[in-house]
Amino acid sequence: MKRQALAALAAALLASPAWSTTVINHVNGIQVGPDGNLQHFSGLVIGDDGKVKQVIPEGVMMKLAGVDQVIDGEGKTLLPGFIDAHGHVMELGFDALQLDLVGTTSLQDLQQRLKAYAAAHPGNGWIKGAGWNQELWPTKTFPTAADLDAVVSDRPVVLERVDGHALVANSAAMKAAGVSANTPAPKGGEIHNGTFVDAAKELIDRAVPQPTRAQQDEAFAKAQDILLGFGVTGVGSMSTSLDDWNTFKRSGEAGNLKVRLMVYLLGLDPLKVVPHPTDWTYDDRLRAVGVKFFADGALGSRGAWLKQPYSDKPDTRGLQFHSDAELLAQEDAAAAAGFQTATHAIGDAANAQVIGIYEKLHAKYPGDRRWRIEHFQIVDPADIPRMKPIGAVASMQPTHQTSDRLMAEARLGPDRLKGAYAWQTVEKLGIPLAFGTDFPVESPNPFPGLSAAVSRQDMNGQPPGGWIPSERLSFAQALAAYTRGSAYAGFAEGKIGSLEPGKWADFVLVDRDPSKADQQALGRTEVLQTWIAGKKVWARAAANAAPERGK
Ligand SMILES: [Zn+2]
Repeated sequence: MKRQALAALAAALLASPAWSTTVINHVNGIQVGPDGNLQHFSGLVIGDDGKVKQVIPEGVMMKLAGVDQVIDGEGKTLLPGFIDAHGHVMELGFDALQLDLVGTTSLQDLQQRLKAYAAAHPGNGWIKGAGWNQELWPTKTFPTAADLDAVVSDRPVVLERVDGHALVANSAAMKAAGVSANTPAPKGGEIHNGTFVDAAKELIDRAVPQPTRAQQDEAFAKAQDILLGFGVTGVGSMSTSLDDWNTFKRSGEAGNLKVRLMVYLLGLDPLKVVPHPTDWTYDDRLRAVGVKFFADGALGSRGAWLKQPYSDKPDTRGLQFHSDAELLAQEDAAAAAGFQTATHAIGDAANAQVIGIYEKLHAKYPGDRRWRIEHFQIVDPADIPRMKPIGAVASMQPTHQTSDRLMAEARLGPDRLKGAYAWQTVEKLGIPLAFGTDFPVESPNPFPGLSAAVSRQDMNGQPPGGWIPSERLSFAQALAAYTRGSAYAGFAEGKIGSLEPGKWADFVLVDRDPSKADQQALGRTEVLQTWIAGKKVWARAAANAAPERGK
């Protein structure tokens, strides 16, 4: 090696422990191009800054002179890292450390899991859990305080519903919170025999001991592990509290921040400390970009605010969280401070309210503001086109459609389903579409979402032919919404969302070609490796790997 080259290499090594230039070749590279079509490539050249230098087209042999590391992709499929436009990072971590009630098949199943968890975690501390969904139980009725007391009565127990819009508390927890059977429900909430819905949750939540810093750090580390294992390299971090923000920053300071977080602060309170959007920090891994608001609740707990009464409960139209004036004033304060706004709206009345508010804000703050509606789930078909002229973004979760289908039919009846989970309608109108999962409401695994997006079928192939199949997307449209679309939704399309020169080399290697897999095989795609900024940050343990230390 020439002395000059040695000097250059030494300088590069001093500057960064990474390789100066890495080539990953022999891959089946797939991404969505700027034209919306699938683009195929055979490799990437990655600079020492962790960014893509060159995308190697199919059939082109790279000259490997001057390259420091060559990685043989062995023909595996390479995709851009997935960006989940809407997830709850800390909740994902905390849930993973708590009693897991996802998939409980009955009240008895919940009770058994609670009993086992209490035995495994003895003491008198609070037992926290999440993930139950009474819609999956034969009775379809909310659990009660008495149901929990029958299993654990000597310490507080609080268990959140899968959508986070309701919780059930045992008598010890209600006592600790100073709540009795006679406590009236606050505005925007309901109480039924120990189940607290929407605004009523706060009556119990305020008594739950706050996690320590160490517990927060542990939960965040756990969340990152889970996300990387599913190939998620970026997240729209929704409903971020100041505690969450500080946890992310501690992780960044310690050099442990891997996943890129586009942060949406929870309401206006955090703006006392973070008064304006921040720059990207920690090598483009953390940025406060927006503020999250809520217009209504969720469909499962009948908290979604509808224009007409619920088909299966005609005495209610759900929960309106704010008057128009109240929500407008809050959103205006965030917009005036330069933040993007992201507003939760599930029901058609809530979506109409938020669109109306965004029309006013757009007139006041013209330009590229990308007003986001989170979920955009049940929308009056007459309201959907109003999104386009104001540049609003539909941030949607394809697995909600498959999870909620039967419940949505019951809640809404047949006539209101035209604007439900209307992805293709959104696409055809040219409204920017971003996909995510709302984890931990759903698993952060993007592949069941891609599968649902292209088929409108669940992982059991139900219903045959797909549910309202005219709203299916092509694979390219679905992948775009999960990469380019979710980057755009977070003002990050110049950095991530596609593999192009100058953007970060964030990508995954997977075990099959998802563009060629049938619907079910697509949903079962597994991630083999996850790379961020040109470095491997997660790899699946080999199935036949030797156990550590010979155990
Ligand atoms: Zn959410």
